[in-house]
Amino acid sequence: MRYVSTRGEAPVLNFEQAMLTGLARDGGLYLPETVPALSDIGALEGLPYEVAAFRVLKPFTGDSFSDEELQGAIARAYQGFRHVARAPLTQLAPGHHLLELFHGPTLAFKDFAMQLIGQLFQIALARSGQRITIVGATSGDTGSAAIEAFRGLSNVDVFILFPHGRVSEVQRRQMTTPDDANVHALAMDGHFDDCQARLKDLFNDHAFRDQVGLAGVNSINWGRVLAQIVYYVTSAVSLGAPYREVDFTVPTGNFGDIFAGSIARAMGVPIRRLVVATNQNDILHRALTTGEYRMGEVHPSISPSMDIQVSSNFERALFMAYGGDAGAIRQLMDELKAGGFSISQGALQALQDQYASGRVSEDETTAMIRTIREETGQIICPHTAVGVQVARDHLEPGVPMITLATAHPAKFPDAVEAAIGIRPDLPPHMADIFDLPERVTRVENDNDALKSLILERRIA
Ligand SMILES: *Cc1c(COP(=O)(O)O)cnc(C)c1O
Repeated sequence: MRYVSTRGEAPVLNFEQAMLTGLARDGGLYLPETVPALSDIGALEGLPYEVAAFRVLKPFTGDSFSDEELQGAIARAYQGFRHVARAPLTQLAPGHHLLELFHGPTLAFKDFAMQLIGQLFQIALARSGQRITIVGATSGDTGSAAIEAFRGLSNVDVFILFPHGRVSEVQRRQMTTPDDANVHALAMDGHFDDCQARLKDLFNDHAFRDQVGLAGVNSINWGRVLAQIVYYVTSAVSLGAPYREVDFTVPTGNFGDIFAGSIARAMGVPIRRLVVATNQNDILHRALTTGEYRMGEVHPSISPSMDIQVSSNFERALFMAYGGDAGAIRQLMDELKAGGFSISQGALQALQDQYASGRVSEDETTAMIRTIREETGQIICPHTAVGVQVARDHLEPGVPMITLATAHPAKFPDAVEAAIGIRPDLPPHMADIFDLPERVTRVENDNDALKSLILERRIA
């Protein structure tokens, strides 16, 4: 399998190289040259998650990993999940299902991808003897998932940039309490978009990139998207695919999760529609309804993991909607630097053929946490509540709807308590998080400051 950049001017890579690289050298994102069809989808029914995962992932990894290596990596990635189904499907209402993606070590769906690429990185690095510096930007959940996947490794440093004061206390403590010497939590002044912009600057500084062996594990990394395809396939199959269509609603920020659904669809899983659910930071909803992608201000919300204006993986969806025209994508991304762009009529039509969207206010989010508690007894996190509200607006008789429950409610106790008066308990493995000392470094929103800090702190 060959991987090409959405901007068309970076080397074509195999899976292992694309995963280790993260962002392409031309600033673009890697995608498989063609999406393989998934054979015998019906035969996945009832299989253990790990077995299904191997069948879904193998065509994309090609000969980068042997069957034994890939199977071993998958087994180790998911053995620490606290639910034997890994991604269990529960029912919210007739025709409406919840895909629980929060049973991993850091309680958000990010663990599905991060645990797996953690294992694959280790195999690749052991083979090459390379040392790397991982730098990641996080709106809250990617950071802890990356730290959990890479902590304690001798050939990897992990630097995580998070927006100071804009993540929940549980999210922050998950990043600042691990005491491994190779873990570096950096609180940056600004929003998530600023963290992501500094990260891209580091990657585009080719001298620095080569000097520290920079590797990226943000959702721009193809390996992340790839791992997420699996639960779209397994959940669709348990509701009757390939013999019945399903819809998905996905709480969305950087577009990495929902884009994995789009790849599952391209592989032949009968997904009728992928519904983008946004909070008040609704740039994606506006883009998909009007064709105008225009950056505004970020307004902090009670679903902070979706507080974003620059949705990186949307570039991949645009590349596909523009029929793989890298020149057109380069042009759009140039225009984005000046604030925004208009999507062509043809491309907008292609996007609207598979994506729908909706926006949810803060009050509606709180109200939905309460409604679900009343209707089912279940407690959902604010991101999931955004998804459930949008899903309800898009229910279609006869087509099962699957809403992705992207995080555990205990990660966002303040928002949950404001809605239902209950502070959800953290699972036992995290119960001591409020007692542990924190280690964190404040850093300005400045590239040179960041570079010197990384050079000074790195141990690998
Ligand atoms: C990261 C995250 C999202 C958004 O996912 P994207 O892949 O960035 O679109 C939604 N909910 C939670 C809880 C998250 O951690």
